[in-house]
Amino acid sequence: MTTPTIELKPSAHPLSDAEREAVLATPGFGRHFTDNMVTIKWTEGRGWHDAQLAPYAPLSMDPANMTLHYAQTIFEGLKAYRQPDGTVATFRPDRNARRFQASARRLAMPEVPTDLFIAACDALVAQDRAWVPAHGGEESLYLRPFMFATEVGLGVRPANEYLFMVIASPAGAYFPGGVKPVSIWLSEDRVRAVPGGMGDAKTGGNYAASLLAQKEAAAQGCDQVAYLDAVEHRWVEELGGMNLYFVYGNRIVTPELTGSLLAGITRDSLLTVARDLGYEAEEGRVSIDQWKRDTENGTLTEVFACGTAAVITPVGTVKSRGGEWTQGDGGPGDVTMTLRRALLDIQRGIAEDKHAWMHRLG
Ligand SMILES: *Cc1c(COP(=O)(O)O)cnc(C)c1O
Repeated sequence: MTTPTIELKPSAHPLSDAEREAVLATPGFGRHFTDNMVTIKWTEGRGWHDAQLAPYAPLSMDPANMTLHYAQTIFEGLKAYRQPDGTVATFRPDRNARRFQASARRLAMPEVPTDLFIAACDALVAQDRAWVPAHGGEESLYLRPFMFATEVGLGVRPANEYLFMVIASPAGAYFPGGVKPVSIWLSEDRVRAVPGGMGDAKTGGNYAASLLAQKEAAAQGCDQVAYLDAVEHRWVEELGGMNLYFVYGNRIVTPELTGSLLAGITRDSLLTVARDLGYEAEEGRVSIDQWKRDTENGTLTEVFACGTAAVITPVGTVKSRGGEWTQGDGGPGDVTMTLRRALLDIQRGIAEDKHAWMHRLG
């Protein structure tokens, strides 16, 4: 089966420059979408076909669409940044393509080849390049590739028809008023993912599993939930949509990939960026007791969360049934901010791209 080329049928009525600039002035996150979208179909026996870039528009769906009932759906998230010379570049899209393939395998869905995944993202960014915010700040164009079953029927089995899509949404600076630490609620009963489950796949189901704990966190006055492993309820895994790092002076530690947490691309990039800057960076296990004890004895100096949307977010306070504590002085720590700046500078094209992570679109 051959890889289809993407047919370009862009919107004949894109937003005017003035309308688009008004959106870009206060984009928020995931609220506004660009003029176009990419759709590529897959059917059993035929493979990927009908690849199109077309005007952004609602989909029409049969009520017995299998995704609505059995949740065969996966997604990705990556950003396009305006470079100092006015060109646009995405950050490690090959990694998103590979993770999308891994998620697809876990949910018994077809895999989108890496070149087709990247071509779909590139086509949309190229067409809607005016939506990539100007160089200078932390604004970007967030790309959301996703795939879901389109077959109609209530029988439970892997579907034999899917739609792969890419949409794009301008993203403002995550912290418009300056980096602000988040408060964490430690979920000691509810888990997000289990061994052998799909915690390492980027799928809506994991988010659905996390929403009740997120609501409980909000009721406790906290911004985010930290999940523990599902067996011993002891080992720290990650937040609902971000990985965690623990800073011990010059050494940073992130929970190892046990299969029930998501292998973040930001997490992976930071292991390398940290080593480039002379920190020791490792994957390991951190228990909840250790988190509390090492904060109290002063060896654990900072904690931060990381993911594509926020890049790096400092953790300010942690609340659990066993008590509440503050990381450092509650403000963003030095190592956290140094790593944040270093990674953003690579993404924005200010720092040298030593590891060839940026994918330039010209
Ligand atoms: C997407 C995601 C992350 C962060 O991954 P990045 O590739 O760094 O954006 C972390 N945890 C979960 C559950 C996620 O879905």
